[in-house]
Amino acid sequence: MKKFGVLFLSLLFINSGAIAQQNSFTTDSLYLNIVIPEEDTVMYSFSRYRVAANTHPEAKAFVNGNEVKVYSSGAFIDMIQHEEDTTLIEFRVERSGESLSKTMYLIRPVEERVEYTKKAISDYKMEPEGDLWLENGETLTVQFRGKPGQQAYFSVNGVTGNIKMKELDEDLSDGLKGIYRGTYIVKPNDFGKDLKIVVKIKKGLFGYHKKVVPGKVSFLKTPIVGEVVADKAYLNVGLGTDRLGGARHGYLEEGVKLNIVGKQNNAYKVRLSESLDAWIPTRFVELLDENIPVASSLTGTIRISGNEDSDLIRLTLSEKLPYISYQELDPNKIIVDIFGATSNTNWRIKYLTSHGIKNVDWRQVENDRFRLIIELEHSQNWGYGLSYGLGSNLEIKIRRPPVIKDVTRPLSGRVIAVDAGHGGSNLGALGAAGTMEKVINLQISELFKSMLEEQGATVVMTRDDDQYVYMAERWDKVMDTEADVLISIHANSIGYGSDPLRIKGAGILYKHIAFKSISEIMYARFMSLGLDDYGLIGNFNFTLNQPTEFPSVLVETAFLSNPDEEILLNNKDFQVSVAEEMVKGLEQFYLEYGYLETISDQPDK
Ligand SMILES: [Zn+2]
Repeated sequence: MKKFGVLFLSLLFINSGAIAQQNSFTTDSLYLNIVIPEEDTVMYSFSRYRVAANTHPEAKAFVNGNEVKVYSSGAFIDMIQHEEDTTLIEFRVERSGESLSKTMYLIRPVEERVEYTKKAISDYKMEPEGDLWLENGETLTVQFRGKPGQQAYFSVNGVTGNIKMKELDEDLSDGLKGIYRGTYIVKPNDFGKDLKIVVKIKKGLFGYHKKVVPGKVSFLKTPIVGEVVADKAYLNVGLGTDRLGGARHGYLEEGVKLNIVGKQNNAYKVRLSESLDAWIPTRFVELLDENIPVASSLTGTIRISGNEDSDLIRLTLSEKLPYISYQELDPNKIIVDIFGATSNTNWRIKYLTSHGIKNVDWRQVENDRFRLIIELEHSQNWGYGLSYGLGSNLEIKIRRPPVIKDVTRPLSGRVIAVDAGHGGSNLGALGAAGTMEKVINLQISELFKSMLEEQGATVVMTRDDDQYVYMAERWDKVMDTEADVLISIHANSIGYGSDPLRIKGAGILYKHIAFKSISEIMYARFMSLGLDDYGLIGNFNFTLNQPTEFPSVLVETAFLSNPDEEILLNNKDFQVSVAEEMVKGLEQFYLEYGYLETISDQPDK
């Protein structure tokens, strides 16, 4: 365990040079670079906002007249209170009688108020919004704002009319009354495509104001069968979303047939089984002829075989049905649910070549949900892939642990993928001193690569220069080279409303529970560098952590938004230490979970 205090202080001294090369203070004149805000005027709704800038390391810096610390990198930061509609931010730096300043603004977005007195009907909408398909029993909600105390109705053209809308007792948010809301529950015989919704409110004695609500609704005879037509199509659990997309069940290959029962927000609702629905972006699916029957199949024989480095389980099906896979630890299992499948499996054949598989069994967990339970011989899942082979037989290819021939060089002969995050026009996080995350990620990745090569490994880099590389391209490269593991290298940053001094440290992220082990090992290695504990984070929705085909982990080395850690990340010695710890982590992972030839051979002899 390295002593962080000592290491850290010594780094502070040696490193101003490292940052100097990256930034513009090779001349001795005063300068002022603002990193955050990124523009002169920023729309911002929250009450705290962090600013970040850099200047000559010997200058004094002021934010709104208050002196703030200037770091050896020249960085300075502050937290601004943004209470009013407009907040002014004045940056000023001074050195040897010279001074520079710049003023920027935060503006709170103000919601536009539409008064009912100006428009008879305003703020009209339906919920859920957009191009909607609903099925029997689902609810459509329609709402608008109008003159209070009137009678209001809505109709779904061609299906139902004059549904009374109720004026809400309380105002919604801005103190204005006159919000009318009505609901309609879809009935079994409702049918119609792309129907218009019209709202109306009484206009004196003579009639009604009417308005067509944006969006359209369809009541269809479902399910309609759709086919997956895109590479890397994924099934979402719900309609939730965040920066990296909503929670996912997993991926489906092209040709898989789906039973579609609804549509909302550019996603189809997929009926997987009696009790489970999922969502898939409409762009991944082509709808088939409405007369095509729902996708289902009886299951046939299960064949379990193997070759020199992997095992293969093949299940006979008559249709390419959707599937979801899960992993369980201790005992190490892969569970695969196949939807629309009903067991007719009376033959399960296991060949001697399948050394990695302890047992395969099945359960019919619902009428339309067939479960394969695959128990592995080894304690670590080294990756597996699902695909439809010839015809529509589902094939599950499971990798065995790599064979370690020399315990003193466990990485020798292995293929390891290293992913330097961001690149090209994608800068990644920015430090106050001007450090770009993409640069740090590549520097550390290159050090890591050369150390791995010294250990006899072959390294696959998803990028090896300052290029923009799409996630799908990175993913394909790792798959095509059949790398054992993938390490993605990033540096972290906080949002605009958080305190950059308070949040720092190393974070390790992974998606699948099967790959928690490598993540825990890496986490311990980072903690040994004396970094703060930002956390070991599972279920992370990063694209390159999605594949089940290989163990993967994303390391967030430290926080570029923290000025001390920005200095650290620019320091060559620190970068070398990070790369060394990652090599040690990988060696440990291979030794713990690889197949040690010398030891394992003994019981047989
Ligand atoms: Zn990043």
